[in-house]
Parts: sequence; structure tokens; C-alpha cells
Amino acid sequence: MVYTSTRDAGVNVFAAEAIVRGLAPGGGLFVPTKMPRITGARLSEMVSFDYLGRARGILGDFLPDFTAGEIDDIVLKAYGGGSFEDSGIAPVRKLSDELYVLELWHGPTCAFKDMALQMLPHLITKALEKIGGGGTLAVLTATSGDTGKAALEGFRDVSGTKIIVFYPENGVSHTQELQMVTQEGENVLVLAVKGNFDDAQNGVKEIFADGELGKKLLEKGILLSSANSINWGRLMPQIVYYFSAYCDLIKTGEIRAGDEVDFVVPTGNFGNILAAYYAKLMGLPVGRLVCASNKNNVLTEFINSGVYNRNRDFYATKSPSMDILISSNLERFLYHVSGGDHEAVGSYMRALRDSGKYEVCAEVREKMQGLLWGGHCDDEDTFKTIAAAYKKYGYVLDPHTAVGMNVYEQYRGGAKAERKTILVSTASPFKFSSTVYFALSGEDEGDELGAVKKLAGEYGLRVPPSIEALWQKPRRFERGVRKEDMKSLIAKELLG
Ligand SMILES: *Cc1c(COP(=O)(O)O)cnc(C)c1O
Repeated sequence: MVYTSTRDAGVNVFAAEAIVRGLAPGGGLFVPTKMPRITGARLSEMVSFDYLGRARGILGDFLPDFTAGEIDDIVLKAYGGGSFEDSGIAPVRKLSDELYVLELWHGPTCAFKDMALQMLPHLITKALEKIGGGGTLAVLTATSGDTGKAALEGFRDVSGTKIIVFYPENGVSHTQELQMVTQEGENVLVLAVKGNFDDAQNGVKEIFADGELGKKLLEKGILLSSANSINWGRLMPQIVYYFSAYCDLIKTGEIRAGDEVDFVVPTGNFGNILAAYYAKLMGLPVGRLVCASNKNNVLTEFINSGVYNRNRDFYATKSPSMDILISSNLERFLYHVSGGDHEAVGSYMRALRDSGKYEVCAEVREKMQGLLWGGHCDDEDTFKTIAAAYKKYGYVLDPHTAVGMNVYEQYRGGAKAERKTILVSTASPFKFSSTVYFALSGEDEGDELGAVKKLAGEYGLRVPPSIEALWQKPRRFERGVRKEDMKSLIAKELLG
């Protein structure tokens, strides 16, 4: 199977090249030209497999240029090394006969980004080897919180790689900052940029755009790369847990093979929910995909009207990983929903770049509305939902998952569900302890560590070991950098 570009039918590459390049030439995204089919028989067989076995099967279909042994090795390194503290890797919890939670936060950083970023480094180094590249891969990432830490944990001490993360000095939560500045590993560097997330991201983009620097690095055998969520290598591992959750519900007798289920996904960049759509295209019996947004509700409006308009106020919310106005992975969805229309996708994306806005044709809008249901809620409703869900189910939600729960209630509208629903949980409540503790108790703890302790003590929860250890770890990275100095610092760091 080969991969093409969402914007250019002339692009045809193998998986290894798509993964190493990240972005298709001409600015499009890589998409598979043919969707693998998982038949009912194969799905039934998968029920008896563990998470690693399920991952091997799905990955194998998308990576025909990798051997079975290579895929085994990648899956084992990602999920078999003990970095996930739940043996199910992505376990499903039952809240009621109609509602289940898929917990994607048992990895080392307590957010769902680990599901992909524990695998990407092994995928990308193997892919690089396949296309004949040697030397060192230098991964540069600007982060607003969750991605940076997950990338650091994924790439730490992976041979042949270096990982450098830039975060905005005053733009991440206390826990997120601690997670990054205490990062262990010999090949890691963390820098605080004096500016906001856009400054950090623009600085990284400028480094990538500097052909002169790129050439000098290549002469020294260093290839620049990013751990961006538009890389196919980040998307593909996310498809696995949709199949896995479905298999778990069959295994526990909650559904019968073939029954349709709905998924509710707290959404920012549209990566996670897109993986659910891929699972559906591959044959997983999925009814609706419910797309949940916070106050930055550009996607809700798009799903309802067919008009994508990023010209709007940006809100910093209590579910910060969903504070996004340009959902990059939506481009892939539009490609598939339009029946592979490269021209149409290209024109939408040009309009987005030039005017911040585009409108899809009626056919695409109707098809989209058949697949997706969009809703949103603000911070106040997020707090209320955290409290209400605890009361109703005895289950503590993080703010992102709470947005999902709120939108699920809107979707149901008080009626009995047509299908069973799986709510996708994207972070541990302990990653946002003060917000969650405030929502539950009405008390502002003020101090993050204090909130962690109270949340555990008063609500009978176990603190994830990686969060508990944070306050004892030495701070390794105290260096700040001005945005105009990012490039010279990288040149010095990598070229010596
Ligand atoms: C990244 C993230 C999201 C959004 O996921 P997308 O794939 O960007 O839609 C939601 N919740 C948490 C906790 C995240 O870290």
C-alpha cells in the first residue's frame, strides 16, 4: 500500500517515507490510498489478543514495507517495556449499562499523547533506516504542554536521536512545567522561551525553514524532524485503541460482535477523533462520532454549518490541550469524505491560509453530518460536569474528558441511547489537580501539590507514580531563551 498527499495525486510514497518526511511535498498531509479492511472474522480473532497483539495486527496492515519482526519490535518497545502502569495499556471502565470510559492516560506522562509518542520514536528510527538515512535524528518540538513532555518521554535515550523541546515560559501549568524541567535522559534538552506558544512555534518553524542551516546539519549527518501530530506515525497507533476498546466490550459481554457503538472524543487538533473515523472506515461497527470542543468551538460551528472560520477570539480555557483554532488533521477527514478530491481539499486549505475561512460543498457537509455530531461547553459547565459525574458515577474526570461528558449529555438530550457509548478519556485528573479539586469541592487549594494530595485523600484516588515523584526530582533545565535567539542556540547545540 502506498500513501498519497491530500492535495496532490502525484505524490506516491511508501509508509517509511511518509513517516520520515512528516509533511507531504507541497504542504499536504500523507493519507493511505487504500483502507485496510478488518473483517468480522478478524475482529472476533482479535478479541482474544492482548493490546500488543491487537496493535501488531492493525499496524501490519498499514506498514507493508515493514517486516513482521520489525513491527513486533516496535510494538514491544512502545507498550511492552513497563512504561504503562496498567497492564491493559488502554483499559475500558464501565460507568453504566450505556456508558463506558476508555482511559488513554496510563502512560508515563498521564495524557493520551503517550499512546502515539511511546511508539513514534521507534517507528521513525526504523523508517529512517529503511530509506537509507543514517546519522542522527534531531527532533524539535514547540509545546503548549502535553505534547512536549510526551515527546521527551518517548525519545529519551532512543539511540540515534536527540529531542529538544521549547515551551512558553509562562504558558504551561505548574505540573506540566515540572514534568518537563525534571526530564531524565542523556539526549534531551528543554528550553523556556520568553514569549507565548506562538512565539515558540514560529521560532521552530523558522529553524525548519532555514535551508542553509539544514544543509550544514546534513553535512554533519543530522536530520531535523518534528513530533508533530500531523505525522502519519502519530495517527496510526491511535487507531488501535478504538479496535481494542470494542474487543474489550465483546470480551466482557457488554456488546455482541457487530453491534454498533458511538464514541465521544474531546477534540483539539482532530487527531484522536480522526483515528476513530479510520477505524470505522476499516470496518469497526461505529455509529456516530461525537466531537466535543471547549469554548474554542470552531469545530462545532463547522459541523453544523459547513463553514470553517478561524477569524474569532481565542480563549485560554481550563481544558488547555483543546485550545486550538486550526485543527490540522481535519484536512485528512475532508479528503476522505470528499471521496479523495485533492483539488477540493487544496482549495479549502488555500482559502484557510489566505482568508482564515472556507465553506465545504453541500455534499461534503451532509456526509460529514451523517458521521459526526458536534457540541461544546465552557469552563463553568466543565466544572459542573466534573462534580455531577462524580455524584452520578463516583468517577473523577479530568477537564478535557469532562467536556466530552458534557457534550455526550447534550447529544443524548435526555433520551435513551440508541447505542452504547464509549467516552474517550484523554488525561488523568491528576494532571490538572487544582482545576479538578476546585470543581469537586468548590475550594481553591492554590498550591498544585496540595491539590494533588487532597484529590487523592478526599476522593479515594491513587496518585499516578510519575506525578507523585515530580516534587522530589531535581530540576535539570533552567535555561531560558529569547525567541530571536532560538535558531543560533540550536545551531550551536547541534553543530558544536
Ligand atoms: C492533545 C489533547 C487533546 C486533543 O486531541 P487532538 O488529537 O488534538 O484532537 C485532548 N485532551 C488532551 C488531554 C490532550 O492532551
